[in-house]
Amino acid sequence: MSSPEKNLAYWQAHAQALQIESRAFIDGHYAPAQTEETFECRSPIDGELLCEVAQCGQADVDLAVAAGRRSFEAGVWAGLHPRQRKKVLRKFAELIRLHNDELALLESLDMGKPINDATRGDVPGAAQCIEWYAEAIDKWPGEVAPCDHNILGLITREPVGVVACVVPWNFPILMASWKIAPALATGNSVILKPSEKSPLTAIRLAGLARDAGIPAGVFNVLTGDGRVGEALALHGDVDCIAFTGSTAVGKRIMQCAGQSNLKRVWLELGGKSANIVLADCPDLDRAAQAAAGAICYNMGEMCTAGSRLLVQRAIKDQFVERVRAEMATWQPAHPLDPATGMGAIVDDIQLKRVLGYIEAGKQEGATLVLGGQQTRADTGGYYVEPTIFQVSDPNIRIAREEIFGPVLSIIEFDTLDEAIAIANRSDYGLGAAIWTADLVTAHTAARRLRAGTVWVNCYEEGSDMNFPFGGYKQSGNGRDKSLHAMEKYTELKSTVVKLG
Ligand code: NDP
Repeated sequence: MSSPEKNLAYWQAHAQALQIESRAFIDGHYAPAQTEETFECRSPIDGELLCEVAQCGQADVDLAVAAGRRSFEAGVWAGLHPRQRKKVLRKFAELIRLHNDELALLESLDMGKPINDATRGDVPGAAQCIEWYAEAIDKWPGEVAPCDHNILGLITREPVGVVACVVPWNFPILMASWKIAPALATGNSVILKPSEKSPLTAIRLAGLARDAGIPAGVFNVLTGDGRVGEALALHGDVDCIAFTGSTAVGKRIMQCAGQSNLKRVWLELGGKSANIVLADCPDLDRAAQAAAGAICYNMGEMCTAGSRLLVQRAIKDQFVERVRAEMATWQPAHPLDPATGMGAIVDDIQLKRVLGYIEAGKQEGATLVLGGQQTRADTGGYYVEPTIFQVSDPNIRIAREEIFGPVLSIIEFDTLDEAIAIANRSDYGLGAAIWTADLVTAHTAARRLRAGTVWVNCYEEGSDMNFPFGGYKQSGNGRDKSLHAMEKYTELKSTVVKLG
């Protein structure tokens, strides 16, 4: 018998039947917050109440940290043979795959992401990430230092201890996996704090981690608002905090670490990435398609969104027209319809923020080329039209600040030097792209662009786990993904043995 067509009605029926777990997960068990407080979790699709989620407080933070410390000291995870941790983490990845549709539906309902992106991108991506680090654990040897002949110098890596992972709402399960996978793989005990705007997949992950065999106390999920994140950042018994989110909160977390126990701080923050299209671009249609996807995918709620499109004057008019036509195809629709490319903005606050920036663009003299309005308001959800501004002054707010919505600023330039100067004149340095047919120009520009990732003749390609991901300047420090991420969750130890 063939499986049913997974259309809007299919997903809506599944949404009705979902049993949503909404409690925190501490020391191997789901439990309500100690305060018994909850907060409303509403879907941005239609504003409907999904569930009431545990609002953890200091007592829950203390319990989770104590469970993390106890499990770490006991060696129930850190002390296992790496092959054993690998086996459990591979099982965890397998369970995520088995629950792909359920997790994808939770993600879509919770933060408005198109179901097709969640089923094909976010959830399989999370499973792949966990599997990748599982596979890496027993292929990451230490070093022997070259030193005097009567000295044996060992350089080893040890788990840092109790790791807090504070993650945002734009890619909830994927950003969580980018942190928890290398942290767990290297033997740490982990406390995951999802955003209050999108806690549901993190909560579900905890049960799957337990079913996979991760011991009690090794993986905990604390739900609640930013106060929970701050309590973790201030906690004297948290050894490391890994954060993805806004630059403002990243700065606060660094302060908290300085104020408390100097825990290691790893930050993946905002961006205002420049996508530079030169007149010799080898394929303007492909570049236009990529430029539209770079700002519309995930409703523009992406730290690497290509939010500044820099176009060389000679091709500006024709290229803007192509981008306008491409972006016009990204009209928001019901996130549970598999045909939908652009879903809902995460909540009312973010919707107002995006609309506020659109208003600021108009006020500051930018020319509206497309969109600019809220749409689908009758659904009770939060949707914004794909929006393009032509900007003559690259210093106005919409061209400088992270909007986190489908709002593109197009800026024209004459020379490559000018384009690089504009691209680098930013507090951020997360991503950048250059489109050119000339190899030397491509490599020269890639070297000069101050960004953690530079794409040449593409945008957002290379999503597999091998590439380190992170930023220069106020886009953060450290890198997610790749073997380099494992460095963040370990301490380096030199052991010096005198042989005679
Ligand atoms: P935040 O930076 O506030 O949220 C990210 C995470 O940090 C969430 O889990 C949040 O919890 C938590 N948090 C909030 N305050 C604190 C604190 N004082 N100490 C520790 N943790 C804290 O992002 P916002 O939701 O406010 O989004 C605002 C803007 O931030 C966006 O418009 C976008 O520009 C940027 N952003 C960038 C992201 C990126 O990927 N680089 C991701 C998300 C946002 P809670 O949500 O429960 O309050």
